[in-house]
Amino acid sequence: MKRYHVHTFGCQMNAHDSERIKGLLEDLGLGEAAAEEDADLIVFNTCTIREKPDQRLAAHLAQAKAVKAREPEKIIAVGGCFAEAQRERLFELYPFVDVAFGPGSISHLGDWLGAGGEGVARGRFGTGEERAFAADLPETRGRRFQAWVQVSMGCNSVCSYCIVPRVRGREVSRRPGEIVAEVVRLAGEGVQEVTLLGQNVNSWGRDLAPGIRTEFGELLRAVDSVDGIERIRFTSPHPKDFRDPVISAMAECVAVCEHTHLPLQSGSTRVLKRMRRTYDRERFVRLAEKLRGAIPDLALTTDLIVGFPGETERDFRQTVEAVKEVGFDGAFTFVYSPRAGTEAAAMPDQIPEDVKRERIERLVDVVQRVAHARNQERVGKLEEVLVEGPSRTDESVLRGRTRRNTTVNFRGTAAPGELVDVLVESATSMTLRGTEAAFVAAA
Ligand code: SAM
Ligand code: SF4
Repeated sequence: MKRYHVHTFGCQMNAHDSERIKGLLEDLGLGEAAAEEDADLIVFNTCTIREKPDQRLAAHLAQAKAVKAREPEKIIAVGGCFAEAQRERLFELYPFVDVAFGPGSISHLGDWLGAGGEGVARGRFGTGEERAFAADLPETRGRRFQAWVQVSMGCNSVCSYCIVPRVRGREVSRRPGEIVAEVVRLAGEGVQEVTLLGQNVNSWGRDLAPGIRTEFGELLRAVDSVDGIERIRFTSPHPKDFRDPVISAMAECVAVCEHTHLPLQSGSTRVLKRMRRTYDRERFVRLAEKLRGAIPDLALTTDLIVGFPGETERDFRQTVEAVKEVGFDGAFTFVYSPRAGTEAAAMPDQIPEDVKRERIERLVDVVQRVAHARNQERVGKLEEVLVEGPSRTDESVLRGRTRRNTTVNFRGTAAPGELVDVLVESATSMTLRGTEAAFVAAA
């Protein structure tokens, strides 16, 4: 049996696309190889959101080149956002690559392999009209009790720093019936937690045909009504599309978790305008207050960019202030990375690397302090935890996630997939520690 190895870079959407890539390859009769060197087919599912993943990929491809020189029969496939961004140059840059496909054309990999790697021209892949939902392909999931469900592809926003609209195309919503049917099927297979995925997940539904046009709150309600689904998450919503029906659905649906990842990007209204985010700082803060008012105990996490072109020390301080004012439970912090072809990359007032570095260090420090204080508030409370398995650093301890999406390491006897109550005993900025309630009672 031929074997494959998939190497995934980037966001949850890519992680989910990789499940589809694996499912498709298994349907074609290939088995998974745990290590790259044992595989006949090596797939890189790439990300190009910042320069860093590009650099990591370049290092991997340099290794792949050496492997291909030694063992020319191995197949090297490059998929995802980097492949799409570099579609004109990819085979020139990396002549040893056998097949390439954009994020909207995963099935092309199947066509190519199905044709024995000869029937389809090497350079043919893409987004545009050819795009199809990866959700229509078979999938191989990492965990039997958790699943991602794609609700849309592409993005219609024009954030001036972002390459996503170029590589993933315009937004297309998946039909509600198909989404709910997938969730029903997943629940039947034992899935308890679903994460609805879209680049701009809460604008879902608006592009559907007039007869079925709907909005994200309705989708949350429909998924909430599926028997067996205990937890519903979604990512990433855009603040501009967080309308009242979504907030009410979150508040009223029992399975929708008390967590929202709401990317702020910058605390400076001036910078937000140049980023084309279409909300200002005040509107974001009001939205956060409204969400917390409607959903008691809500955890709010965010994405922040430092060093956007023209960002002054004053703008940066406003981001720091916003982190404190909103009291985020966590944040992904990024150094602005110019992406070729985006509006911001052409802005004249780029910030020097040393200033960006210095700012991100200061920001991370504040984010950690605020998150630590928020997590500290959980100490002494019981949290419902979905057990994922042993802790990554200590096999004698279990790991799981609260409804608020915080990782908990805890003493206990529960099995992966179980929902248990955990008494929280201590906290860091990223994790909680505790003991399973049944374990405490037995002691
Ligand atoms: N669609 C989602 C959104 O708008 O929140 C996610 C987009 S992207 C996969 C995740 C994050 O990467 C963004 O929220 C942003 O903070 C960051 N990002 C995107 N482009 C970037 C760039 N050029 N430089 C630094 N960070 C960037
Ligand atoms: Fe990129 Fe903005 Fe679309 Fe998110 S909403 S994917 S940051 S363009």
